[in-house]
Amino acid sequence: MTYPIDQTHAVELTSWVEAANLPDSDFPIQNLPFCVFQRNDGGDSRPGVAIGDQILDLRRCAEGSLLPPEFVPAARLGDLSAIMQLSLSQRRALRHWLSDALSDLDSAVAEARENLLVAQSSVKLLLPCRVGNYTDFYASIYHATNVGSMLRPDNPLLPNYKHIPIGYHGRASSVVASGTPCHRPTGQLPPGEGESGPGFGPCKNLDYELEVGMFVGRGNELGETIPIARAEERLFGLCLLNDWSARDMQRWEYQPLGPFLAKSFLTTISPFVVTMEALAPFRAPAFVRTDGDPQPLDYLRDATNQQAGGVDLRLEVYLDTEQMRREGVAAERLSSGSMQSMYWTIGQMLTHHSSNGCNMQTGDLLGTGTVSGPERNSRGCLLELTWDGEFGAPVPGSQRTPLSLPTGEKRVFLAAGDRVILRGSCEREGFRRIGFGECAGTVTN
Ligand code: MN
Repeated sequence: MTYPIDQTHAVELTSWVEAANLPDSDFPIQNLPFCVFQRNDGGDSRPGVAIGDQILDLRRCAEGSLLPPEFVPAARLGDLSAIMQLSLSQRRALRHWLSDALSDLDSAVAEARENLLVAQSSVKLLLPCRVGNYTDFYASIYHATNVGSMLRPDNPLLPNYKHIPIGYHGRASSVVASGTPCHRPTGQLPPGEGESGPGFGPCKNLDYELEVGMFVGRGNELGETIPIARAEERLFGLCLLNDWSARDMQRWEYQPLGPFLAKSFLTTISPFVVTMEALAPFRAPAFVRTDGDPQPLDYLRDATNQQAGGVDLRLEVYLDTEQMRREGVAAERLSSGSMQSMYWTIGQMLTHHSSNGCNMQTGDLLGTGTVSGPERNSRGCLLELTWDGEFGAPVPGSQRTPLSLPTGEKRVFLAAGDRVILRGSCEREGFRRIGFGECAGTVTN
């Protein structure tokens, strides 16, 4: 199936929330992403919808008898789990209600706006739901090839890569919302030059990974599978995801079972979930495989998924150091890429995950893996960006070359005070641009 483009996507639609109509707003009325928030002056956590620089308080819409009754139980919860569980037709009905309520100046919501809207600047944005399970994939062939080249110069891409979406089970308890500080992890570090064994201490090669997160809507029963033709309808929406990575710890521990403590210390996501419905105008063909590449096995192949399983989502990484903030220097863009460089679609990842009968559950989070494209400036982590000679003189005793920042500072990996900011947006001729907000975190030490 595909999500329909309808009147909620019409480019001429505007909101009575004026800030939503500004051309650079991430949250015009065509977007309507869900979030969970708490007012700074107290109160409990509750579901909301971002519109311009405001949030529509769905709990208060329910209390004021403005929300259609079928959505009232979901709005009374402290997170999005019940909204994620709605049927496709309910999700669509809720989107249409929101679109009408926020565009029609005479709507009951517009009349009660003082009570129903809260400025985004005066709330704390929380995780969208309790993440039961978190899985991270490896779906960019450019990232896999780059990383493989560093580890195995003669054999960068392992032979299974083009057949099977590679992933590992991550740690759900350390998934946090944007703004949470990143404490540098400690762990076993590989033996340095002239050292006979590993040491234990703070990670020296702290990195970020630019990724997209997917939230599962309705899951599947244990023992059942999600056919590729039904995968899209099981997805609820997307967010930005930073898979913080301790590269030195990773290098030492990853064989034979894959990443463990190098990843599990922290994963940051953006607080707004952009729904599959909102993304409808921005769907794109799956990765075009060249002649020599194998076609996906039948269980991962579907005509609709091949035609529209991709997402035309632009992604950017910005870095802001303590010195840059002190000197008033704007955050520096480190890379800019597209989700269309992913070798596997989000539907293929979900279908593969459930292909053994593993039960996917509402609120499960799936990361795409680092989104890197073919160009040098579309590499989605420092491991790739500082790897070869393009950015300056090599670090003595290492093959790595640092990035130069406007302050004259250099970075090979992250330093104390560095703030990493991920941004994403979808644009298409004839449609309103929609954005994902920010996924940000500052390294504390
Ligand atoms: Mn990752």
